[in-house]
Amino acid sequence: MDFKQIVSHCKEYGFVYQSSEVYDGLAAVYDYGPNGVLLKNNIKEYWWKSMVQMHQNIVGIDSAIFMHPKIWKASGHVDAFNDPLVDNKDSNKRYRADQLIEGYADKIEAKIKKDVEKARKKFGDAFDEKQFRETNGRIIDRQAKIDDALGRMNKALADDNMEALKSLIEELEIACPVSGTKNWTDVRQFNLMFSTQLGNIAGEDGKLYLRPETAQGIFVNFLNVQKTSRQKIPFGIAQIGKAFRNEIVARQFIFRMREFEQMEMQFFVRPGEEMKWYQYWKDTRMKWHQAIGTPASKLRYHDHENLAHYANAALDIEFEFPFGFKELEGIHSRTDFDLGSHQELSGRKLQYFDPELNENYVPYVVETSIGCDRMFLAQVSHNLVQEEVPDAEGKSSTRVVMKFHPSLAPIKCAVLPLVKNHEGLVKASKDIFDELKFETSVQYDEKDAIGRRYRRQDAVGTPYCVTIDHQTLEDQTVTLRERDSLNQIRIPVDQVSAEVLKKTNMNNLLKEVV
Ligand code: ATP
Repeated sequence: MDFKQIVSHCKEYGFVYQSSEVYDGLAAVYDYGPNGVLLKNNIKEYWWKSMVQMHQNIVGIDSAIFMHPKIWKASGHVDAFNDPLVDNKDSNKRYRADQLIEGYADKIEAKIKKDVEKARKKFGDAFDEKQFRETNGRIIDRQAKIDDALGRMNKALADDNMEALKSLIEELEIACPVSGTKNWTDVRQFNLMFSTQLGNIAGEDGKLYLRPETAQGIFVNFLNVQKTSRQKIPFGIAQIGKAFRNEIVARQFIFRMREFEQMEMQFFVRPGEEMKWYQYWKDTRMKWHQAIGTPASKLRYHDHENLAHYANAALDIEFEFPFGFKELEGIHSRTDFDLGSHQELSGRKLQYFDPELNENYVPYVVETSIGCDRMFLAQVSHNLVQEEVPDAEGKSSTRVVMKFHPSLAPIKCAVLPLVKNHEGLVKASKDIFDELKFETSVQYDEKDAIGRRYRRQDAVGTPYCVTIDHQTLEDQTVTLRERDSLNQIRIPVDQVSAEVLKKTNMNNLLKEVV
């Protein structure tokens, strides 16, 4: 399905709505509907249990969104959490300078891909893409243009050189997609933190920020948590919560939002042992993504070339969204930067006494950080498919189906009386519903013909439908329909719950990630 279809499906089936829609919306802010909130909660549960329940040495917290303003000074966000922005003077549209340059590179890459596909068709099975890319003159030239533009952009960003970024935009003759002109302002840094004011303190001293990441709540609670949970290094602290970033260009639906949710885990280790744990979390997180059926071909690692000053290793797990491979999760080895800075600015010791080494030190940190909303988008975009299936008469018909992993599906089982006006069938159905609701998330639906109800459940990814018909009243059996195979089996009513839970229970999924 293309991206537009995915977005409209999300709205039509109660997954995601534009915020404040009755007032024409608020850019880059979204609300989750009835199915959306269930899916999101399941994603969070999968993450939380994989971290906290599955690891004796990981504990959770829920820190406040507001924190002391000095925290953002120590973390570097006040001085360096910036994006380079540039305005087009004719359209008055604002862009991120780096994204304009990346857009230029993407366009060239699209041309390369076209050539590659043409060649693939021409040469058939014998085609070797790697060799073609390395030897075809036109592709070599185009690739050189991409490498040069991105190389110079990365250098300008690393040097904080805004003039160089502007010259690069001019040199590459990048035009505004809206006005079509190349009439740009200077590039300047824009801080991404939202700020607000404490009620009882005027001026700078009362300036508060909405947290741009959840991690700092973990760092400043490090000793509280270590002491109260009696954890020994290595151990981790996990947190799920809202984060806020005043993104300059927020596009691509819930991929880049101004208010979003993060799932972060900071793992505290002995200095010198961080690379071992970096590797551990790199592997473990990839396994987590694949356990819910995301194919390896849609995921890849992207090592950071320009490391932030505090990191000694960093990579992204990228997912192939409908608009290309993009960051889904970050894994960073952050050294002792954060704890060290808080220790320095607060004047309080944030050290750990290691009983085995008999010494005090500021631990090193390896973090895994994933956006819950991006994970949601990855799941929705990958699992929404349109396919041909046989209808009741065996003829081919088209259905739209969300092939979520059964443990993540918003509704696990729909309970459907064959007809709605039959007292006996309705009663039997409601009895089944009332039993199942204690086990899992179920939905009762009696409206429309049974085929349409199946399609409705397919569209939101319900793994099972139970249909109650006249035979049910005679022998206490029902039809259980499975979403993907479309298999229908007749089973006794009292086996429905066990059958549904076999595949939808999160516990079975967790066994695959430990
Ligand atoms: P990007 O380069 O895409 O802006 P980032 O490198 O700034 O992302 P991090 O600071 O590493 O992102 O944040 C960790 C995770 O939080 C990201 O991998 C992403 O999944 C999520 N995330 C970051 N910014 C946003 C946003 N504006 N909207 C939704 N999710 C976000």
